[in-house]
Amino acid sequence: MHIGCPKEIKPQEFRVGMTPNAAQEAVAHGHSVTVETNAGSGAGFTDADYIAAGAKIAGSAAEIFAAADMIVKVKEPQADERAMLREGQILFTYLHLAADLDQTRDLMASGATCIAYETVTDDRGGLPLLAPMSEVAGRLAPQVGAWTLQKANGGRGVLMGGVPGVGPARVVVIGGGVVGTQAAKVAAGMGADVTVLDRSLARLRYLDDVFGGQFRTSYASAGNTIELAREADMIIGAVLIPGAAAPKLISRAQLAELKPGAAIVDVAIDQGGCFETSRATTHQDPIYDVDGIMHYCVANMPGAVARTSTIALGNATMPFMIALANKGWRKACEDDAHLLRGLNVHAGKLTYAAVGRALEIDV
Ligand code: NAD
Repeated sequence: MHIGCPKEIKPQEFRVGMTPNAAQEAVAHGHSVTVETNAGSGAGFTDADYIAAGAKIAGSAAEIFAAADMIVKVKEPQADERAMLREGQILFTYLHLAADLDQTRDLMASGATCIAYETVTDDRGGLPLLAPMSEVAGRLAPQVGAWTLQKANGGRGVLMGGVPGVGPARVVVIGGGVVGTQAAKVAAGMGADVTVLDRSLARLRYLDDVFGGQFRTSYASAGNTIELAREADMIIGAVLIPGAAAPKLISRAQLAELKPGAAIVDVAIDQGGCFETSRATTHQDPIYDVDGIMHYCVANMPGAVARTSTIALGNATMPFMIALANKGWRKACEDDAHLLRGLNVHAGKLTYAAVGRALEIDV
């Protein structure tokens, strides 16, 4: 199969769909790989790295889309890219169609077979192609929160680990899933005093068993949440209710009860945010002040560490990409029900029920 990897064109997207390692793996399986020139530059991969891995370099996205049997990307195709997709071609990337009617219509009109990273599942009911980005955002959250806490950035001027004779920062993590667990581990590793809140007792039991010595757990009742928030220097929002907007767990009125200069890092901002005062920000202008509380609400946190994110995503997508290339999409999906869950659009039809319900399109 001929696999093509264009350069991402969505603003502020520095990741790339294939690493040189992924290209090398595909070539070793007998496939040909073409990568657009400079596609990997944002993640620190040069054209020479891809050539050394056995890939060819194309001068434009148009060449890639014209020749490839399968397009491997990171972000949903933009309008210009959608116009280049064609019947029978496989598109393997994040799509997030449920909130994007224009894209869904274009993908249906293209006749391509579109497999979305975010709906591929695993044996434990998880989302293996979303998890790496949650791990990145979770581990990044205390790092950006620590920066937000610095005085020059409007924060309380509190050091995460304190120093001998001065206590550490208090960090509260709301939601103890993938993001919350990684955030708590890193915050505890920085020396902070960390408590994780969750509504799932099973999750709290797991966290207590595995990390009991590193951080505390608490049940996420409204009362416990505000009580812990009042004492916190940093609050990290990491909740997820699948298929729903994030619940608002701290209201604007409650900001007055927090410590002046406390930092809020709302990782759940991509689902609308879990604080009433959250609004999405960018890496260029990541923080803002509401009532003396500093908010960090960047919706695509993994983009800040594009190299780590690209490699982490590539590790997760590679086995699926190889299966699709080796077997073709139909046999690969027949053999793997988890990959089949990724199928969102095929031959002009929407094939994913939840997207159909959200957009009122027949599946
Ligand atoms: P997850 O499903 O692994 O974990 C979510 C946790 O939230 C679960 O343990 C659940 O029990 C808990 N929860 C649900 N409602 C709660 C409540 N009211 N109070 C306390 N806990 C509650 O999800 P995840 O992968 O950790 O993702 C968390 C959020 O981070 C999602 O909104 C995801 O979209 C977002 N995210 C954002 C970025 C970014 O760049 N901003 C990157 C990755 C993920």
